[in-house]
Amino acid sequence: MASLKHYFKSFFLAELLQGMSVTGKYFFKNKVTLQYPEEKTPISPRFRGLHALRRYPNGEERCIACKLCEAVCPAMAISIESAQRDDGTRRTTRYDIDLTKCIFCGFCEESCPVDSIVETHILEYHGEKRGDLYFTKEMLLAVGDKYEEEIAAARAADAKYR
Ligand code: SF4
Ligand code: SF4
Repeated sequence: MASLKHYFKSFFLAELLQGMSVTGKYFFKNKVTLQYPEEKTPISPRFRGLHALRRYPNGEERCIACKLCEAVCPAMAISIESAQRDDGTRRTTRYDIDLTKCIFCGFCEESCPVDSIVETHILEYHGEKRGDLYFTKEMLLAVGDKYEEEIAAARAADAKYR
């Protein structure tokens, strides 16, 4: 009896029709697959992507070299050296992040008292050799300068939850 049932199922292509019915069911529904990179999903203001160092609107760098971010980093990816300037303020002379060590936990930006080190919405970047992902202070400031508008907007959108 079972073999007869199997025979008829095969003869009338029952499994194929079953499969086609699933295809038909989803054919007219909203598509959930995106054609990346032409199409992109929205990104949360809390997204933790490429790091940046920010400046104040007058161009002064925010970082005061307190080294909290370096101390809190669980991956020990941040290296900071600092010196006192002629005006008595302290600033970093070296601020490096090794992104091959970073686990994008966001602790550095959470610990920063002056909103200097931040993780941006930028996720499309790459390095072709190990050293390419070693970001120096100049590189981090350049990212901050380039994307300050977006960074400020993301911080403002998230401000009431912080
Ligand atoms: S995101 Fe986390 S692991 Fe990466 S540099 Fe900041 S504190 Fe370190
Ligand atoms: S980025 Fe922020 S937490 Fe890190 S040293 Fe500068 S001021 Fe301190």
